[in-house]
Amino acid sequence: MAEVEIRDARKAYGSAQVLHGVSVDIADGEFVVLVGPSGCGKSTLLRMIAGLESITGGEIAIGKRVVNNVPPKERDIAMVFQNYALYPHMTVAENMGFSLRLKNAPKDEIAQKVRRAADILGLAPYLERYPRQLSGGQRQRVAMGRAIVRDPQVFLFDEPLSNLDAKLRVAMRAEVKQLHQRLKTTTIYVTHDQIEAMTMADKIVVMNEGEVEQIGAPLELYDRPRNRFVAGFIGSPAMNFISGRLAGAAFEADGGIRLPVDVKAPAGPAVALGVRPEHLVLAPDGIKAEVIVVEPTGSEVQVNARAANGDEIVAVFRERHSFSPGETISLKPQAGAMHLFDGETGLRIS
Ligand code: ADP
Ligand code: MG
Repeated sequence: MAEVEIRDARKAYGSAQVLHGVSVDIADGEFVVLVGPSGCGKSTLLRMIAGLESITGGEIAIGKRVVNNVPPKERDIAMVFQNYALYPHMTVAENMGFSLRLKNAPKDEIAQKVRRAADILGLAPYLERYPRQLSGGQRQRVAMGRAIVRDPQVFLFDEPLSNLDAKLRVAMRAEVKQLHQRLKTTTIYVTHDQIEAMTMADKIVVMNEGEVEQIGAPLELYDRPRNRFVAGFIGSPAMNFISGRLAGAAFEADGGIRLPVDVKAPAGPAVALGVRPEHLVLAPDGIKAEVIVVEPTGSEVQVNARAANGDEIVAVFRERHSFSPGETISLKPQAGAMHLFDGETGLRIS
């Protein structure tokens, strides 16, 4: 096991700069998720850690050793990809033991390590099968087994669950987390799915356009996003934003929306008020909005409504309200659940 330090990592492909100086400290045994929209540079960063991409600037260290010029084989990492690319002509056991065979490890040792990984992953009954005889989830487990038998210092995962259907993805998410709780190997996991990030990570790194927006524990990011990007990216359905101004101890938006806020900030400047759908309650002194669509899921009701100033507001209730389209409701943020962001910089105010 090892810590990983990424210091001011930069990457350019020709004149195109795709990572603009990314710094992340990953502790020994930590499960860190790199999350961000497609194209923000997650895979590039992961591949730089793996040694599959050169490092244009900055430094990457694994277990205190700077690896910028160390070839992938000597970095003591194991990577699991989205398309797990098992060898079709090899059995599960052969697929899992292949890297050890390449290293000329003794047969007994290979068999023992494969058996151990198979036990951990529930693959013991399938060792003699071929990949085509397995379900998608089982194949993904074999790909993880291949990584486990190498007993690396660091696991690198690049969207390993993206090819699975929704239900299996949720089940495998818990399996990967359990695997980490058991092995405690330092893990860096890339996904574009903020729910995966929230549910699996010790620490989340939110990336956008080749830069880090915020690093923190899942609930820190949810409770105190440092800017509007993180606020809108973490949480589902996404946070609502209403633009307006601060006037004394109140937030004022067009269309007569006025709400008291408990933030000390100069009056006047443009701000965006952020409130999560699950933090809106029905109250007469709230924001008047016209119901557009009502979506019951059984456990919750999601309501899309339009405020007087035209902003769309999404609210989620645990109670089974039965609103009708066209009806006017009044929505108020719960106390302490308001977020204010600077209208220009997007940075959190307070
Ligand atoms: P993500 O994994 O977050 O979706 P990537 O790391 O794959 O994003 O890509 C980041 C950016 O780098 C994208 O704009 C992509 O087009 C660009 N990019 C990735 N690989 C190459 C390459 N080999 N040559 C040129 N540009 C690349
Ligand atoms: Mg990617």
